[in-house]
Amino acid sequence: MNNTERNAIKRKEWRRNNRDKVLAQKKRYRDKHKDELKERAKEYSSSYEVKLQNTITRSARACFEVGTLTSDEIHNLLIGQGGLCNSCGIEISHELNNINLDHYIPTSLGGKNAIENVQWLCGDCNKKKGANAPTEQLTFFINKDNA
Ligand SMILES: [Zn+2]
Repeated sequence: MNNTERNAIKRKEWRRNNRDKVLAQKKRYRDKHKDELKERAKEYSSSYEVKLQNTITRSARACFEVGTLTSDEIHNLLIGQGGLCNSCGIEISHELNNINLDHYIPTSLGGKNAIENVQWLCGDCNKKKGANAPTEQLTFFINKDNA
């Protein structure tokens, strides 16, 4: 073990034994750099990737609590569709207000919450499909707050 490693272990131990000091130090840092940190957090959370990932995670959670689908699967599905509406082909992956995960066969008709039974549609196609089967809950809509 060299000196650098020994020092690292010592520092780690010190931090473990002086948790309150460490927390106070972190708080001082946060207070001092408050605006900068806020700005960085804002930048991060407004990036497209983060928004898309949040949308997908929420979609998976909202729609597939009982199913076998994962957010990775529906994310890959969107990539597989080239980020396009599966019906009319318009770009939807950057239109988070206009992107809807749809069941080919509604769950109320026995459709499964499985990757082979879902597709991404744009809002228009989704509405059209909904109008043809108005009693079915075909889709859910993504929360606009996040888009
Ligand atoms: Zn469409």
